[in-house]
Amino acid sequence: MAQSEAARIEALRNLGILDTAPSESFDRITRMAARIFDLPVAAVSLTDSDRQWFKSRVGVDHWELPREKAPCAEVAENAEVVLIQDLLKSENYHDSPLGKSGVRFYAGAPLVTREGHGLGALCVVGPSPRSATDEEISALKDLAAMVMSQIEMQHAFGRIDPESGLPNRHQFFEDLEDLARDHAGEWRHAVVVDLLSGDDLTNLLRVAGPSALENLTARSLRAIRAALSSAKLYAVGQTQYAFVVESAEIGDVLAIVAQIRDETAGRADTIDAAFTANTTIGVAPVELGKVSARDVLRMASGASHDARDAGEAIGLYSRSLDDAHRRRFSMLEKLRRALVENAGLSLHFQPRVDLRSGGCIGAEALLRWTDPELGSVSPAEFIPLVEKTTLARSVTEWVVAAAVAQVAGWRALGIDLVVSLNISAANLVEVDFADRLIAELEKASLPSSAIEIELTESAVIANGASGFAQLDQIAAAGIRIAIDDFGTGYSSLSYLERLPADVMKIDRSFMANIGRDARTDTLVGTMITLAHDLGYRVVAEGVETIEVYDFLAEKGCDEVQGYLIARPLTPSAFVDWFKDAESRLEPEPARLSA
Ligand code: C2E
Ligand code: MG
Ligand code: MG
Repeated sequence: MAQSEAARIEALRNLGILDTAPSESFDRITRMAARIFDLPVAAVSLTDSDRQWFKSRVGVDHWELPREKAPCAEVAENAEVVLIQDLLKSENYHDSPLGKSGVRFYAGAPLVTREGHGLGALCVVGPSPRSATDEEISALKDLAAMVMSQIEMQHAFGRIDPESGLPNRHQFFEDLEDLARDHAGEWRHAVVVDLLSGDDLTNLLRVAGPSALENLTARSLRAIRAALSSAKLYAVGQTQYAFVVESAEIGDVLAIVAQIRDETAGRADTIDAAFTANTTIGVAPVELGKVSARDVLRMASGASHDARDAGEAIGLYSRSLDDAHRRRFSMLEKLRRALVENAGLSLHFQPRVDLRSGGCIGAEALLRWTDPELGSVSPAEFIPLVEKTTLARSVTEWVVAAAVAQVAGWRALGIDLVVSLNISAANLVEVDFADRLIAELEKASLPSSAIEIELTESAVIANGASGFAQLDQIAAAGIRIAIDDFGTGYSSLSYLERLPADVMKIDRSFMANIGRDARTDTLVGTMITLAHDLGYRVVAEGVETIEVYDFLAEKGCDEVQGYLIARPLTPSAFVDWFKDAESRLEPEPARLSA
């Protein structure tokens, strides 16, 4: 009894009807029940765990009554008609709230689901004792069945995808939850078939219109159905379909999936053959009851995305890949918050030293971020992620403001340094980037020579003409531009002709092999000569040993930066280091050491 009551309550809650707004389609039936009995009061009353809630009522003001001693609860519990000719004479109900409120007559017909759960009653009540004819009772039962159809129809509508007529993602979740309850611990495979990438979908709609999409979808759905023997198909996104394969064997799944891939791949047998599906399929092994239905869909659809990114047709969900995704996602969210709250971000400064004089002439500003949960995160990890999102703008804005404030502060102390800032490729897409950079300097009354910007060659090339426009404007304003990580890109050197840069920074990956590999020595020597011939000042990054320092000095390199000189330092540590280095320089231009 207790268990079936739990199942009854669950069935009721799953229908999602409790506490929904009144609706004419129910009220119509309630009015008819009252009219047939010629009574003033009728209601569609649902039996929740502790209350009777009215989806529809005539002649009553309130929306609910306590469940205790309510005749409707008896109707629901037994799923049978209850007829009480006189409540005052009834053993069970003479002292019920309904009886005390003056009601004498009650008739209720059960609202029963297909599975046999009694949800509540369609009831009529009257102020005086009376009996009911067989016709009246059978009419009340018919009307109760109509209420049930109405409930089930409304429920079904919310679970059907209007485009394809297939059950939608809500139904997928519900069915998977049912499956997990009945077969907990067993293994199945969830599959998501994605017909088009977001870009392809946009293009198809723009070029060929919605009917082309409909044709493509219909064709693909036929192919998917042909490959599935009995599995139920769901529409879970605009061009995404999902199903669950009964088998725990990945081989069985791959056979089905390979057939779908072959069948949905471009086939030139229709008018709109130009628009073929570009299907990717994601497969996720699922231990029923271990993961939520939503996670199952996320895993399978993530696998399909990963396959698309990798240029493959089929992807298998991999837990390690997923963890990496989630870390990246949460990292970006946390960084977004750090920027909004201006918390956890700071700049460190690494000295740049002139090789001839040994003096410090500048510093590179390097971003540092410490998150309360993630701890300190390296820019080498978060910057490449940021560069793919709109956060790139806010990050650089923060860095520019902080660096300009720091330079201005140092100048006030008589420390005249050029601070170089790292800029992302994404920043060059911002049409007002140069304007804003120049405005920041003006606001702080700094000359344009106070800062330098660093960009990688790939950043320059990625943005083509629009990127050059920003760089030309920056160079024209007198701000120096450095090519960062030179030698690591795979680009041709022709961009150097066009780039208004002043400084070339040779990547630190070359430094480790200097003195150990003759070809590296030649390469670095040649890069320095090439850069000088093109009119650049040359900086070597990542100098860690005195041998490398000496080699670079001999080759005529202009500047060095690296752990040999100093690690990136907090602003106050930088000032201490700077004063110390200057005092050591005073008597004789000695070599600096770490
Ligand atoms: P980068 O611009 O090439 O910066 C130089 C990196 O080399 C820094 O790493 C620095 O700490 C490290 N380094 C310097 N000397 C040595 C050395 O002697 N040995 C070794 N092994 N490493 C050395 P960091 O600070 O982790 O930054 C990594 C990259 O993140 C930077 O490379 C830059 O591309 C990016 N980044 C850092 N800060 C910013 C920023 O504010 N904005 C943007 N857009 N990117 C930034
Ligand atoms: Mg740099
Ligand atoms: Mg670099």
